[in-house]
Amino acid sequence: MSEGENTELEAVAELAKRRGFFFQSSGAYGGVSGFYTYGPEGAALKRNLEDAWRDRFVTREGHMEVSAPDVMPEPVFEASGHLDGFDDMILECPECGESHRADHLVEDNSDVEDAEAIPIEEVQEMIADLGLTCPTCGADLAGEPVEEFNLMFETNIGPGSSQPGYLRPETAQGIFVEFPRLKEYARGQLPFGVAQVGNAYRNEISPRRALVRVREFTQAELEHFIDPEEDEPPIERVADVELPLYSAENQNGEGGIEYLTVREALDEDVVGSEWVAFYLGLAKGWYERVGVDMDRFRYRQHLSGERAHYAVDCWDAEAELGGDWVEITGFAYRSDYDLSKHAAHSDGDFTLFKQYDEPKTVERPTVDPDMSVLGPEYGDVAGDIREELQLLAERDPEAFEADTVQVTVDGEEYGVDTDVANFAVEEETEAGEHITPHVVEPSFGVGRLVYTVLTHAYGEDEVDGERRSYLQVPTELAPTFVCVAPLVSNDDPLVERAESVRERLREAGFEVDYDDSGSIGRRYRRQDEVGTPFCVTVDHETLERDDYDAETVTLRDRDSTEQARVPAADLPELLADLQAGDATFDALLDRGDVHRV
Ligand code: AMP
Repeated sequence: MSEGENTELEAVAELAKRRGFFFQSSGAYGGVSGFYTYGPEGAALKRNLEDAWRDRFVTREGHMEVSAPDVMPEPVFEASGHLDGFDDMILECPECGESHRADHLVEDNSDVEDAEAIPIEEVQEMIADLGLTCPTCGADLAGEPVEEFNLMFETNIGPGSSQPGYLRPETAQGIFVEFPRLKEYARGQLPFGVAQVGNAYRNEISPRRALVRVREFTQAELEHFIDPEEDEPPIERVADVELPLYSAENQNGEGGIEYLTVREALDEDVVGSEWVAFYLGLAKGWYERVGVDMDRFRYRQHLSGERAHYAVDCWDAEAELGGDWVEITGFAYRSDYDLSKHAAHSDGDFTLFKQYDEPKTVERPTVDPDMSVLGPEYGDVAGDIREELQLLAERDPEAFEADTVQVTVDGEEYGVDTDVANFAVEEETEAGEHITPHVVEPSFGVGRLVYTVLTHAYGEDEVDGERRSYLQVPTELAPTFVCVAPLVSNDDPLVERAESVRERLREAGFEVDYDDSGSIGRRYRRQDEVGTPFCVTVDHETLERDDYDAETVTLRDRDSTEQARVPAADLPELLADLQAGDATFDALLDRGDVHRV
């Protein structure tokens, strides 16, 4: 990590705190690590980011959105595998008692990039071989046990401890467990997608790097339920999108990032699943839209040891922050893992009835044992023998070609006369079958995206001999769209006009700030720093005309710092065009009634 990169993150962290993007929570009580509060600017940016996500992955794709509880009962996580498998490697310092993530200790002190993928015993050995010491107190860590630590926060539902519950470690389970109802809302037709934007909780061993690793964070997840035999993604929509791909093969070998179109990535089998490739293509355009710097972005395939317990194939979108690559989204092909598990552990019906194009005639082997023979001969076990005969008929019909058939009940073998079993093959017509859908999941971490967007948007330059820091966030995400200011604050007529412009713009639906303190240059810098794309200033020339329809104001562009004098009455329309991307500030300067200042 170079010093320049560190400085960038430090500058963003300082700005985030000072200007109210985000800061550690409960500061008055000393703060608690891994919990952050979004201040007014950050909450607005986060909300705009979530809205942009909804627009792309829900509305425009025709999916549904739900909102499930954060607390779920224990059986859900027994079924999902989180109770057993959602662990990180923990190592406790023998001297100071501080807990560390063992895989991170290895990564921070060697060339290993993904120690999470390495078996726990090997990580323990590496800690000894590398001679690692406790980052807090410097004690030797060689030989200290590395153990599994479950990341879920446990709680009790209701008084007493009879019903344990957990804060969900991913929003996805809130969707999976409701599948029996959700399929009804989708009218029983695949494919369909269900999205959720909500909080997830992980009791991270060592939270770090501001919003990157926290204990409570917002996820935006989409679970796309598909029929793996029939449903194909609309791949032509993204076929030509170029993806920066860092495959598992290249991570293991010498290769680096390859730039392949979605089509090439599939043809060359770099991405195995068409569905995953579709989402990699769709998401790439969206990341660009929300301001992720494409020179600091890649898709990395999971190594086999790194995949979550549910994932068949998995790619991460990663952004470079402070010289490190950080996962901002996971794209997983989860197969029928989750729905099958919930089907096995609950009473719900997690299948869908799939109608055949034409009804099929199938042969069904059956038995109809003569119970007047089996009953007297086998007594209490006669019923079990009948069931075993039926199972045997389905499994191995040829067994009934012999004179007797053998079945096992409770470890005991019984020979039954084939004539008594009354074996037959019946023909049945079937209209369809019950299938368990597969799931493709893009899972976005909203906090990490907020951090990425802020860091990639952050810049510093000099304007009129003064140092300026600015956030070049896309207009769509900016916490404030336009700031209105009177040129000076101690001039009543100017203030009055400025307030009236502010009210008109608020009435027109814009996110408007108003600032009348300090020099106008200082006020522009303040807005640049929080990413406000435009500033409107009411000056003495505005007052020369005493009716609103004729007055003019100045409009300043954050990125070029250029200013234009525009008719105040046209502002709502001009700003709406700029907001929608239908006009640029440069194009505005070509208008006859707009003058560069
Ligand atoms: P995962 O289920 O681990 O693939 O996580 C899905 C997404 O949630 C990741 O791509 C991250 O963006 C985000 N995420 C996971 N863990 C954390 C965390 N501890 N803090 C912040 N974001 C996280």
